[in-house]
This record gives sequence, structure tokens and C-alpha cells, in this order.
Amino acid sequence: MSRTVSTTTDDEASDRTVEPAPAPDAAAPAAATPSAVPGRPSVGEVVALARRTFDAGVTKPREWRVAQLQALRRLLVEHEDEIAQALHSDLGKSLTESWVTETGFVVAEIDHALRHLRSWLAPRRVRVPLSLVPGRAKVVREPLGVVLVIAPWNYPLQLCLAPLVGVLAAGNAAVLKPSELAPATSRVLARLVPALLDRDAVHVVEGGVPETTALLEERFDHIFYTGNGAVGRIVLEAAARHLTPVTLELGGKSPTYVSDDADLPVAARRIVWGKFTNAGQTCVAPDYVLGSRATLEALKPLLVEAIRETFGDDPAESPDYGRIVDARHFERLTGLIDPVQVVTGGRSDAASRYLEPTVVEVRDPGDPAAAIMRDEIFGPVLPLVEVAGLDAAVDFVNGRDKPLALYVFTASDEVRRRFVRDTSSGALGFNVPLAHLSVHGLPFGGVGASGMGAYHGERSIELFSHAKPVLSLPTRPDTTAVVRPPFTDLKRRLIDRVVAPGRRRRRAS
Ligand code: NAD
Repeated sequence: MSRTVSTTTDDEASDRTVEPAPAPDAAAPAAATPSAVPGRPSVGEVVALARRTFDAGVTKPREWRVAQLQALRRLLVEHEDEIAQALHSDLGKSLTESWVTETGFVVAEIDHALRHLRSWLAPRRVRVPLSLVPGRAKVVREPLGVVLVIAPWNYPLQLCLAPLVGVLAAGNAAVLKPSELAPATSRVLARLVPALLDRDAVHVVEGGVPETTALLEERFDHIFYTGNGAVGRIVLEAAARHLTPVTLELGGKSPTYVSDDADLPVAARRIVWGKFTNAGQTCVAPDYVLGSRATLEALKPLLVEAIRETFGDDPAESPDYGRIVDARHFERLTGLIDPVQVVTGGRSDAASRYLEPTVVEVRDPGDPAAAIMRDEIFGPVLPLVEVAGLDAAVDFVNGRDKPLALYVFTASDEVRRRFVRDTSSGALGFNVPLAHLSVHGLPFGGVGASGMGAYHGERSIELFSHAKPVLSLPTRPDTTAVVRPPFTDLKRRLIDRVVAPGRRRRRAS
């Protein structure tokens, strides 16, 4: 294999690289592109190496794919502690939450892929029409080439590596761009990935907007982007220049409707869990709760109690409660809270970026001044919004962008049927938020404004492969003679009966 290139800025990685990266220069202008840093391979060189490796056929054998997935598994299991430290430093995540929602999540995705890889990669036989017997047809999954994965900061490990599982299982080379807003996790990835995986085929490019912009200049065979819709548009435009297919895993406001017949204590506990995991910085967190006046009134004390049960009397002291990613998001979130509307919570500490689990009551959700109902909250603030009943809840959901997730707490089959039939969302969860992500057989992705494309499990293989139709026809007997001119009477009869039946009247030729 050719020599290694890594764009890591971590000193520890320098002994693993042929061209050691220089230590980061604190005084360097933020706009410096990777190619402008002496001694560090440019983004173009990184992508070219990934492409040469793919073109050489290195990534195609199943053995290579299995070895990479096993290496990725080792990376996660053997380095769990340093990964957890990085996640704690970036987002205040506890050890257990890091395992459940990040490291262990990817391990489960790998194990599922390793268990099923052989059958997923097996060519699928397809029946040929009578006119092509004794031909044989099959669909072969072939890798696309070099895939760019651009990840966000909120699950900075999972959202970089879970797509990578599919990229590798499908036999592609990869360039990963972790989020600069989770710098500790980005550094760990930049150090461990080239150390444990095939360094020619799998690359990590650290950095922010300039680096991502430089990457988007390059030609990839697929771009997988997770993040906000504004940047999603930038990615899509850049991809259009190369006709590169794109998956956009976006966000938005995910509503939760609590029906009058719901088991309210269970609903309160599960909503609190779904909303305040990772301090609300979860793309599929319940953004707000819809319910009738009576249901919301009954739910309020139960939510207060569920927060206390989950995070104790003072969530600031809970080892299981996270922190806001940075000062900008902290200020944005505290600015959303109108003290008059607070049901519980609202306390904050800018120095530690702590924002208490907060429930607020929104009296006029249509008020253009109510920013809390305009944009995705993406933090630990839960608005309660009164609706008249089931029809009003369905209308409320349908009157807005199609959400990434929609949750309904109900005991009624009729309510369930109504939401399945009359609403559209990336996913629909009854009586439980978030959990659909952990079902390997369920595709994960958005619809409309919440994204395009889906992955997880076998859907990832589909996403990062081309389903190539392969038809093979013996040369004798030469059955194609029937469809080749000149069209004699005999041929016309055969065409009408065997090749393309269904015509009502036969015309002359
Ligand atoms: P972010 O700021 O980390 O950005 C995501 C990526 O885009 C980063 O790698 C960043 O470097 C890059 N980027 C930022 N600005 C850019 C620009 N101008 N040009 C090119 N690249 C740029 O993360 P974020 O966007 O704040 O993430 C939060 C959003 O992501 C929320 O809306 C959330 O709902 C959504 N999200 C969706 C999913 C999902 O699976 N659907 C998962 C997590 C988050």
C-alpha cells in the first residue's frame, strides 16, 4: 500500500504518519485551509489517496470489509475510556450515556453488519421473462467509491462512525469530517482512525468551514451530511457541480402529542428521558408537547416529578446530566426562555454552560415573536402547547415542516391509525421517543425539510452501493432474433404472445 496521509493535528499521531502534522498554531488565522499548512497533506491529496486506494480494488474484497469493521470495533471497545473522556469534555456526557448513545451504539451497528454482511452482499437472483429464458439476471451490490461523511457536534462520535460502518461494509473508501464544535472527540477520531483502520482508505480531515468548503470542492461518489438545513443546502449545491448523490440527515422540530387516553405517568417519564438526554441536544428529541388543556394540566406535575426522579433535586449535581456545547448555543437557549412561561426549571450557569431541564407553557404558538415555536430548540427547554384535541393536533403537525420524528402517547388504536395515515414524518414513535434509532431493521432518516435518504443496518449498504443489474444470455439459441427485424408473421405472433403480450389489435408492422 502507498504511504500514509493523516490530517490529524494531534502530536501523538505524528509517529504514525509519514508526513507528521505540525502542532496546531493558536495564532493561525481561522480561515487557513489545510493545504495552507506546511507539511500537512492538502485536502486534495487526501481525497486523491483515498481514490487511488479505491481504484486499486483494495476495499472491495469481503475480507477487507470484515477486517475494517473488526478494527473499528476494537477502536471503540479498547479506547472506550478516552472516547468517553472526550465526550465528557465536549458535552458533559456521562460514561453510561456515552456508551449507550455513542460508542456502544456503533458497536451494535458493527455487530449487526458483521452478522449479516455475507447475505447482504450476496447477488440477488431475479426472474427473467419468458422471452429471455434461458438467460440469468441478478442484482449485484457494487461499492460507489470514495464517500465523504460530514458530522455534527451533538453525537460527534456516533454520527461520524455509524455512517462509516455502512461505508466500509459496502466496500468504499472514506473521508470523515468530524465537527469542530466537539474538538476533543474530533482529535480522538483523528488519532485513532488512522492508527487502527486502513490508513490509505479511511481518512479524517479535522477543521471547520474552510476545511469542509475545501472538501466540497473535491469530487466524491457520495456525500453523507448530518447537521442543519442551511449547511445542507450548501452541501447539496456543491455536490450538484459533480453530480454527486447526497444524503442529508437534517433536523427540525419533532412534535409529541399526548392523547387524553395516554398513560400519563409513563408518558411524563419517557418524554423527560427523550427530551433531556444529552441536555436536549438530540435531533430526534421531542421538541414540544401538544395536548388538551386537561391533559397538559395533569402532565405538568408529572413532568416535574419525572425530572426530579431522573436527575435529582439539583440536576446541576447529577453526573448524568449534560452541558450545552458552547457559549453561542447557551445564549441562544437562555434567550428562548420567557420567565413568565416557566413551569419548572429555567436556572442556568454560563460559566459551566449548564441549563436546567426546563418546561415552559406557550400560550400563543402562532405568535411570530415566539422564537421557541419557530426554530428547532435543540436544548433542554420543553414547551407545552394546548390544542383542542386529536384533529387539532394532526392539523398542527401538518401545518409545519415534515419533522424528523413524531411521537404520540396513546392507548387508542384509532389515534395510532390516524397518525400513521394522516401525517408524514421521518419516523413515528408510539409511546416512546428516540428508541426507533436502535432498531437495526428500521431505516433512519428524514423526509421533506428533515432530510433525504436513510441509513442504519442493511439500508446503509443500499445507500453506499450501486445496485447493478447484470443480465447474461447464452449465445445459442439466439433468442434475440425474434425481436430483430425483419418482422415476419411468425415473429409478430411470437412478440404478441411471448415477448410483449397485451396488445389489443395488431398493426401491420
Ligand atoms: P455543526 O455546526 O457541527 O455542523 C455540521 C457540519 O457542517 C460540521 O462538520 C461543520 O464543520 C460543517 N459546516 C458548518 N458550517 C458549514 C459551512 N458553512 N460550509 C460547509 N460546512 C459547514 O452541527 P449543526 O448543524 O449545528 O448540527 C445540529 C443540527 O443537526 C440540528 O438541526 C440537528 O437536528 C441536526 N442533526 C440531525 C441528525 C440526524 O441524524 N438527522 C443528527 C444530529 C443532528
